[in-house]
Amino acid sequence: MSFANTLITWQRQHGRHHLPWQENRDAYRVWVSEIMLQQTQVSTVIPYYRRFMARFPDVGALACAPPDEVLALWSGLGYYARARNLQRAAQLAMARHGAFPAAFGQLLALPGIGRSTAAAISVFCNGERRAILDGNVRRVLCRHFGIDGWPGEKPVENRLWALAESLLPETGLDSYTQGLMDLGAGPCARRADCARCPLTATCHARQQGSTATLPTPRPRTRLPERTTGFLVLRSTHGTLLEKRPPSGIWGGLWSLPELPPGCDPARACADGYPLVAGSVHVLPGFRHTFTHFRLHGEVIVAELAAPLPPADPDLQRWARHDDLCHLGLPAPIRTLLESLPC
Ligand code: SF4
Repeated sequence: MSFANTLITWQRQHGRHHLPWQENRDAYRVWVSEIMLQQTQVSTVIPYYRRFMARFPDVGALACAPPDEVLALWSGLGYYARARNLQRAAQLAMARHGAFPAAFGQLLALPGIGRSTAAAISVFCNGERRAILDGNVRRVLCRHFGIDGWPGEKPVENRLWALAESLLPETGLDSYTQGLMDLGAGPCARRADCARCPLTATCHARQQGSTATLPTPRPRTRLPERTTGFLVLRSTHGTLLEKRPPSGIWGGLWSLPELPPGCDPARACADGYPLVAGSVHVLPGFRHTFTHFRLHGEVIVAELAAPLPPADPDLQRWARHDDLCHLGLPAPIRTLLESLPC
């Protein structure tokens, strides 16, 4: 049996058929799931997905929602550019099509939708014959066909796309595509469990004992380190939060005022704010790894003698403990604030 037919048979018997976004093949629902699943496991995504769908059941609801609410429901999933692009794409889809499209070309023209995501939606919702190549599929193909080289390198990626296209069956695209996803998230996950896989008889990595070394990992580079001081300014109105600029790290989220690196925290606070004497103290910091640097957050807590009126209510606000769950906050800032006594 061919690679595709083996996978189709296996998917129909052993694959996943009851994920929340499989309940109906609505392009909007599939799209949201595909974006949430980028870099994130299914078990983590499901509760986020259900909350998101309950609040934004269709593309129109997402398009006209307050951006803060979208970010709040995304908060904890990370990679916040995905949430911002999601809403921008919803607005563009409404303006261009009056609905969320399912055709590959229209999907590809929306922000945050790449070739593989557009292909997956068009297969499931428009019956198109297209290849997908997300991280899980790359792993399956590299192992099964013994492809060396980091899949992030263009020549390797091009080779994988050509291979993915050549493997497409004439029929059963839906089961085949879902089967690739299920295999990459199940038996052929990072730690391969080949005993559960339908492809063992033809798999290069299985036969060569190279499941642990394929796919070739990204060449190691040492991430640069950055240190930033985060100010927890507290008053009877709660903790002072500031809105981050719309793009860049934690773009559009609420975060804490920052201190310039290397400054003396007590002096910097005292210069900028009317503090209760002796209230400044430094807490153990936190570490957070981004794709391109490691952040060491220094945390300085201080009590304000009186709450300051926010300079601009769109960019500054006071937040009490109970408000935190309704706000879009970066995960480490949320963890920090929730760990502090009220
Ligand atoms: S046999 Fe093992 S390594 Fe090969 S595709 Fe299946 S799970 Fe992956």
